[in-house]
Amino acid sequence: MENLLEKIVKDNRSLTKEGKVATYIPELANGNGSALGICVITKDKEIFQAGDFETKFTIQSISKIVSLMYAIKYTGIDTVFKKVSAEPTAYGFNSIVNLEVKNYNKPLNPMINAGAIAVASMLKGTTSNEKFENVLNFIRQICNNNEIQLNEKVYLSEKRTGHRNRSLAHFMRSTNVIEGDVEEILDVYFKLCSIEVTCKDIASIAAMLALDGVLWHNDERIIESHIAKMVKAIMMTCGMYDASGEYAVKVGIPSKSGVGGGILATVPNKMGIGVVGPALDEKGNSIAGIEVLDQLSKELNLSIF
Ligand code: GLN
Repeated sequence: MENLLEKIVKDNRSLTKEGKVATYIPELANGNGSALGICVITKDKEIFQAGDFETKFTIQSISKIVSLMYAIKYTGIDTVFKKVSAEPTAYGFNSIVNLEVKNYNKPLNPMINAGAIAVASMLKGTTSNEKFENVLNFIRQICNNNEIQLNEKVYLSEKRTGHRNRSLAHFMRSTNVIEGDVEEILDVYFKLCSIEVTCKDIASIAAMLALDGVLWHNDERIIESHIAKMVKAIMMTCGMYDASGEYAVKVGIPSKSGVGGGILATVPNKMGIGVVGPALDEKGNSIAGIEVLDQLSKELNLSIF
């Protein structure tokens, strides 16, 4: 497996030149656009890594699946889905269009920014800091890694420039999708996006989902199996934003990307995969990361379809 992963990274490395690191959050412009790495954790607890797997990156939108699991676990499915739908979108991850046009009066799904901000407003905790800490500890537990921290620079950079997210949040405040102090809700959201991880961390989260809610490192159940299945279905239909359909056809593995360059991919009953490649395509997905997953999926016949 390690040789295969090394080969796949090597085959796709030149593609990193075709993408660009995100710059709309100024601090992300300092990311390493030429990095490409992968970690696979199998159901038999084997770990394989290749390429620049030690690269640290901010979790960004991949945090959306963690906060969704956390919100469902402590608030309940019905409460969460009263505030957010589970339908794919044809618009970009930070689009405001559907919030007004659709009659739903709620964001289309929890994998786009509007939906994730709505989920952030429902997290357990009395202060914004407590809500953030609760989810941070949840991630640390899933990854078996207490060293996972907030990247303060990325957080402050996004907080300073996050006007699009502010507009989404204020719009939702006006339609009562979210309640309370908008800036505090955004603060939780910005912090969650700025958690710093490695491929192994996101592969751990993916492995837990592959095992339907059981932690790969100690066999403990952390979420109920039906929640894990629901999250995987939402990842498959919405996890790559407005590229989710094409990605399902091409790769066929429930996945979630982030503008930090990570892609978390979970192969039911088989393995969790974490990929890093901060050079992105125009939709905000790792350009080489997608090709790495495509090649791996074909080599090992991993498509769920
Ligand atoms: N923090 C980013 C934002 O809100 C997350 C977006 C992403 O990863 N696609 O814009």
